[in-house]
Amino acid sequence: MLNREKSCQAFDRATGVIPGGVNSPARAFGAVGGSPLFIERGERQYLYDIDGNRLIDYIGSWGPHILGHCHPEVTAAIEAALSCGTSFGAPTERESELAELIADAVPSIEKVRMVNSGTEATMSAIRLARGHTGRNVVVKFAGCYHGHVDSLLVEAGSGALTHGVPSSPGVPEGCTADTLSLRYNDAEQLADTFAKRGDEIAAVILEPVVGNMGCVPPQPGFLEACRELCTKHGALLIFDEVMTGFRVAYGGAQARYSVTPDLTTLGKIVGGGLPVGAYGGRADVMDSISPVGPVYQAGTLSGNPLATASGIATLKTLKATDPYEQLEATTTRLIEGLSDAATSAGLPHQTAQVGSMFTLFFNEEPVTNYDISARNDTERFATYFQGMLERGVYLPCSQFEANFVSVCHTDEDIDATITAAREVLTSIAR
Ligand SMILES: *Cc1c(COP(=O)(O)O)cnc(C)c1O
Repeated sequence: MLNREKSCQAFDRATGVIPGGVNSPARAFGAVGGSPLFIERGERQYLYDIDGNRLIDYIGSWGPHILGHCHPEVTAAIEAALSCGTSFGAPTERESELAELIADAVPSIEKVRMVNSGTEATMSAIRLARGHTGRNVVVKFAGCYHGHVDSLLVEAGSGALTHGVPSSPGVPEGCTADTLSLRYNDAEQLADTFAKRGDEIAAVILEPVVGNMGCVPPQPGFLEACRELCTKHGALLIFDEVMTGFRVAYGGAQARYSVTPDLTTLGKIVGGGLPVGAYGGRADVMDSISPVGPVYQAGTLSGNPLATASGIATLKTLKATDPYEQLEATTTRLIEGLSDAATSAGLPHQTAQVGSMFTLFFNEEPVTNYDISARNDTERFATYFQGMLERGVYLPCSQFEANFVSVCHTDEDIDATITAAREVLTSIAR
């Protein structure tokens, strides 16, 4: 049995002063039951909680830690930057170094602006797209998450094609009236929408590989269709690569699938575990931002010395070591093992993997869009999650999140994870 005594006490304390005891709802165990573990430290592929349990980590802080926790080069870079001061509110050379690394890696990016989170990146990219094109309508896809930006907090609904319906109280309908939410992987619906409203559409924003309804890859031709339709109708194509950037390939999904958007949003890995976001793209579009152009966007701590040091060290290490083939092979071995375990137990399931992102879905049919993902057996997932946690495997606490493998995960970790899954899935089937 996993000892959770101190974590339970810590959670009681936290709920007294922090809403729900957490600073981001993804950390709460609402979907799986029980209370979250409180973490003391991370080391390579492991988390250690305050009760002294060691857990194999498949979240990696929800994406950033592709190099594992406390990578020596990243830690050293942050320490070196720290000794020179934490923030100046004036330019530093590190900002150009990181911008050059990003522009070299990501095919669509000629110029890039640093911000402090993925949410800020998508919010700013949408404003830029609207300002640059002089149009208001933004197309998104149900099940894609782009941070908690007002205008992007929209679910698909029957009325979604004509009016975006906000999916959170506090978001006035006025904020989402110009947001259209369509079905992911449905190029025909997108073409119909462009045929009707093409001259109003400023941008199409999507996760080129979705991570936020579980891992859902683009079907062949879908990204290409998005590109073609945007070009034809003068809309900007925005790839939200906050999760996929430097994850599914060094150059992101756009490098992996050879489809080049006009704008790209980044976060997570690009900050190496510090709070960072970035948006970039064609130089002529990016030059519409203040102070060159009229579209306003700013940030007191943007391009922060510690965050840029962490990002530079992370990207340089990834570039020098090129771990992507190895990561993919490790992940394939894991997902095949999990799938075998579910098959042996006679449980209906689907697997999805792109690079080192993956999801084991408890679903009868292949998951290609949100309507199908919404039919996942979340109760079965909750039992699976708790059983894995008891065995020292720390999975995302929701069926609708992607799992991540880091360069530190060893064959022994993978074997231990598959063994745990066999036990748990067999007991579920009984
Ligand atoms: C995590 C994520 C965001 C939001 O980033 P934050 O840093 O949490 O604000 C946006 N888009 C995608 C695709 C993400 O995965």
